[in-house]
Amino acid sequence: MLGKTHLLTGAAFGLAAVNYGYIEPTLINVLVIAVASVLPDIDKKGTVASRKVLLPFHLFFKHREFTHSILGGLCFMFLLSIFVNDVWCAFLIGFLAHVIPDMFTSHGIKLFWPFKLTVRFPMTCSTGSVGESLFSSFMIVMCLVNIGKVLGL
Ligand SMILES: [Zn+2]
Repeated sequence: MLGKTHLLTGAAFGLAAVNYGYIEPTLINVLVIAVASVLPDIDKKGTVASRKVLLPFHLFFKHREFTHSILGGLCFMFLLSIFVNDVWCAFLIGFLAHVIPDMFTSHGIKLFWPFKLTVRFPMTCSTGSVGESLFSSFMIVMCLVNIGKVLGL
């Protein structure tokens, strides 16, 4: 999926989490969700995340393997905890906002890396396709519904 789809999914999941009281709508939570929602794609050259880091992660990791796995998520969370505290829930929301949409792609992800099992949903679409646009549209509706609930409308 495209970076903008992951960011939109992060916004939708984050607003739902605020709506249900899992996180507070603080600036640090918003930033952590935004970064975590694009971070796993540091393993692919040319993505939003890979352009922001100096190390060429795509030379060390195959796309949608370690950085999209539970182990990769735990490593990212550990590294983040060195710099900021009490943002694990926001990180988890952002990370899920990345890996769940990628499970809708035909390539799927190696969620249980280093094991080779590919995880994908039965219904898949290609990156940048009409299917991704439909997914994004659903996330926009989810954002609007949760904004309305947060604002008490
Ligand atoms: Zn990805």
